[in-house]
Amino acid sequence: MASKDNLYPAIVIGLGMAGAGAAVYLSRMGVQPIAFEKGLIGGKLNESPKVEDYPGFKGSGLELSQRLKGQLAENEIEVHDEEVVSLDRDLDSNLFTIVTTKGEYKAYAVVIASGIEYGNPTISGMEDVDSSFVSHKPLADALSIKGKGIVVWTDNDNGLYAAEYLAGFAKSLVLVVKDVSLVSKGLLDRISGLGNVQLVPGIVSKVENVGAGQMVTINGGTKGQESFEASKLFAFVGGMFQKPNTAFVKIREVVDDQGNIAVDNFSRTFVKGLFAAGDVQQKDLRRLSTAAADGAMAGIMAYDYVTDLRDSGKMKI
Ligand SMILES: Cc1cc2nc3c(=O)[nH]c(=O)nc-3n(C[C@H](O)[C@H](O)[C@H](O)COP(=O)(O)OP(=O)(O)OC[C@H]3O[C@@H](n4cnc5c(N)ncnc54)[C@H](O)[C@@H]3O)c2cc1C
Repeated sequence: MASKDNLYPAIVIGLGMAGAGAAVYLSRMGVQPIAFEKGLIGGKLNESPKVEDYPGFKGSGLELSQRLKGQLAENEIEVHDEEVVSLDRDLDSNLFTIVTTKGEYKAYAVVIASGIEYGNPTISGMEDVDSSFVSHKPLADALSIKGKGIVVWTDNDNGLYAAEYLAGFAKSLVLVVKDVSLVSKGLLDRISGLGNVQLVPGIVSKVENVGAGQMVTINGGTKGQESFEASKLFAFVGGMFQKPNTAFVKIREVVDDQGNIAVDNFSRTFVKGLFAAGDVQQKDLRRLSTAAADGAMAGIMAYDYVTDLRDSGKMKI
């Protein structure tokens, strides 16, 4: 539903699992939001080869992504194919202003669900290797490693699923797991058991160009330090190497030192009317199930907020 002055009751930024959840909850409860998505609906789902730990679903990330897309359409949620470049608030009117690559919009409530990106690890030699040597996109880069040796470095299940998928393309795969107690044991056993996979508990400490290829050095494992030739390093390590998509948030008080958005147990930031859901939240467990739960919570809380404004006559639409 187009609005006169581009003013809307609620706007959702990002349509991965969290943002789609928030939008669907808002719509079904009676506040129709609009949403901005700069890439593909489904977000990280489109990079997830296999999902088997989301309750009630087993299949590819793409399949679940398509279902989200269908659900948004069924609920007639207006999706704008636009990147948000700025989110600020007007202290006088208590409205949020959102500037995108295509225009300017205002809203009473905003849900930030823009996710994170895996960054490049800051390890020795990184500045010397070609930028395409490190990848975080298993689906997009699988064909380029066909018949070659690769290293996958992870500290979470996301990287394990990526490794399992990539093992179907690579000639050999060295799986570097920072702390095996932090990943699912059954999944790790299944992948370590594949004929072309070698598990090395530890961390990647160095990358270097050697002749026409690259060498990856790993600290840990039984030998203390080992080096492997690799055509690509797939890195899915969290913590300091993760980059939340929050540069556009000009209300910097809600953003922590790492760029995550701080919220309470109800996905509320301390700024009234501003909510955050999914991976972009300051939290430890970044999974589909937690993103869905955050999204639902943000949607319900945003609905309550907008309804209160409406009931008290403070809303102009
Ligand atoms: C390889 C891989 C495999 C995984 N496998 C699993 C699994 O099996 N099980 C599981 O539970 N979890 C898995 N995960 C993690 C899971 O995918 C994420 O935790 C979850 O998808 C996060 O959802 P989200 O909505 O918070 O963020 P995202 O899915 O990242 O969505 C954020 C969306 O916001 C958009 N966006 C960002 N900035 C802007 C902007 N400025 N303007 C407009 N739009 C913007 C992005 O384009 C994106 O679509 C995996 C992750 C990866 C990378």
